[in-house]
Amino acid sequence: MTQQTNGKYLIGVDLGGTNVRAAVSDKTGRLLGDAREPSYAMSGFDITAGQIIKSIRGAMAAAGVSDSQLAGIGMGVPGTIKPKQGIVVWTPNFHEDWANANVVDPIRGDFGAPVFIGNDANVAALGEYWFGAGQGVNSLMMFTLGTGIGTGLVMDGKLWVGESEGATEFGHQVILADGPRCGCGRYGCLEALAGRTAIINRAQRKLHQGRDSLLLGMVNNEFPAITPALIAEAAGKGDAVSVETLAETGYYIGLGVANVITGLSVAMVVIGGGVSGAGDALWQPMMRTISANTLVQYLEVCGIVPSRLGDDVGIMGGIGLAMQEAAPNNRQPTTVNHQPT
Ligand SMILES: [Zn+2]
Repeated sequence: MTQQTNGKYLIGVDLGGTNVRAAVSDKTGRLLGDAREPSYAMSGFDITAGQIIKSIRGAMAAAGVSDSQLAGIGMGVPGTIKPKQGIVVWTPNFHEDWANANVVDPIRGDFGAPVFIGNDANVAALGEYWFGAGQGVNSLMMFTLGTGIGTGLVMDGKLWVGESEGATEFGHQVILADGPRCGCGRYGCLEALAGRTAIINRAQRKLHQGRDSLLLGMVNNEFPAITPALIAEAAGKGDAVSVETLAETGYYIGLGVANVITGLSVAMVVIGGGVSGAGDALWQPMMRTISANTLVQYLEVCGIVPSRLGDDVGIMGGIGLAMQEAAPNNRQPTTVNHQPT
């Protein structure tokens, strides 16, 4: 099948463990309609594939777009992806029959348009590059801070996935030798030091030491109820335990970002994901650490900025992927049409 059609419209899909969201745009990235469905991730591949198709159908109905008008569909999927084969090697929080499943074929079969997939963190980087904070730069690294720490690299205007097709994974750079065990099985990865669980553990350890904190009242002394959002809220009120927790977390993230800038000399680092919303208590220690640990000539030419697309980064990244792969003649969006919702 040819990878190019005469269609005018692009579809971006953001597949998550809870919801799947789809959106239709024109070739400048202007959103024309979107839809959201539960992904039923643990119910099996066929059911979730059906939900993906349903969300795309919903977005197309909202936009008034038909199958023959589609240029391409791009989708971000959490986990390990083989984009060229359209295969999901492994994805967390989905039914086991997703292992090595080809997710491209059923979608292409339903719509007759080319379908492209990528790791969700990589797709997020494409979203910021085409439609968000990274418009106009030549190289960009995105860190998505959440349960895990995902990264995506755009170099010379193209997503870099390396020989394995799985790059980049700077969340698994080792930051602290003999540090805590990571989900990948190794020790001291950035994700093990600054992922969601690490942040919560850090705050809980301080409370177990008997320290007083606003957090105790906020969770009614139920330590498992502590979340990064609550820690950020308490830090904003000057709570010492929370301020320290985020400062230590920001330090580790800063080291990870400094290593990347020193290694790649990218023009921009975009910091996104839920944890990135923790505010100055996280951001300032992170920036201080980056400044102190990056070669100055690289730092001078690198912007370090928050995500501009927020929750829309997944669908906009899917649209960027579809545009890059299916409509390569239109590589520069002519206007900035994204409106944060
Ligand atoms: Zn790791």
